[in-house]
Amino acid sequence: MSVDQWLKQVIREFMRDPKENNLGDPFREPAFGDPLVGFGKGDDPLFQEMKEHVGPFHMTPLEIFQKSFPDEKVTAAELTVISWVLPQTEATKKDNRTQDFYPSERWVRARMFGEKVNDRLRAHVVETLQQRGIKAVAPVLSPFFKRVDSEKFVFASTWSERHVAFVAGLGTFGLCDGLITPLGKAMRLGSVVAKVDIPPSPRPYKDYREYCLFFSHGTCGKCISRCPVGALSEKGHDKRKCEAHLRPTIRDYAREKFGIDQAYGCGLCQTGVPCESKIPLVEEGK
Ligand code: SF4
Ligand code: SF4
Repeated sequence: MSVDQWLKQVIREFMRDPKENNLGDPFREPAFGDPLVGFGKGDDPLFQEMKEHVGPFHMTPLEIFQKSFPDEKVTAAELTVISWVLPQTEATKKDNRTQDFYPSERWVRARMFGEKVNDRLRAHVVETLQQRGIKAVAPVLSPFFKRVDSEKFVFASTWSERHVAFVAGLGTFGLCDGLITPLGKAMRLGSVVAKVDIPPSPRPYKDYREYCLFFSHGTCGKCISRCPVGALSEKGHDKRKCEAHLRPTIRDYAREKFGIDQAYGCGLCQTGVPCESKIPLVEEGK
């Protein structure tokens, strides 16, 4: 079996284990459906371009690898970024579709316990590679991962799972800033950088917003009306308004209603829209 097939299998098997992939007690059900995996080459010029698009603080695969393994001799071309999409389950999407102000409990749990699943998957992929003698790091779990105030993006980080997934051929950006993937944009992303040679996944798009009907056909915009606080418009995503809804409104609601306050999300613009679970069809934009 080739390394890419083996890694896809490692990720798929982990996600099929109910002990690992669940929404936490008492919701003994999967947090996510079957994953989609893509690969990016460490020397892909787009990683360097992210310093302009996201900010100079965004690490290239070579930078995060060298920080993590300072004694290892390595070139960017010897690295691969393994990126994955974890789609929200039908039950979670169905619940959130019916919401018009607050997120559903399943959505909040998928943000809280689902991200723990994602972190365990990141650690599992690193560990499995290292058992084969392949050095690897999950940037988001490393001490070099930081959230950063950004003039352009308001909030950013030293490693953007969405931008990395874009390079790995997994999707393009939507009006609401989410990544639209073949499994839709109601999902979570994760990645690992490894010193391993894997052919890059094809990028079946030419433009970074190609899958969004608003940018490709001048239609849709259906995520705009899903936002309960006017954080979306034809100008895009107002992160400050979105953040103000998350904290304190949703944080207080999730704490009071579900007893969860460490992580929470809204996701109304990710559900009940044509790009929720797939690349939207042109006729769905009307
Ligand atoms: S709902 Fe429509 S406009 Fe909004 S991101 Fe999806 S495709 Fe683009
Ligand atoms: S996540 Fe933000 S932008 Fe999307 S619907 Fe909620 S408040 Fe609006």
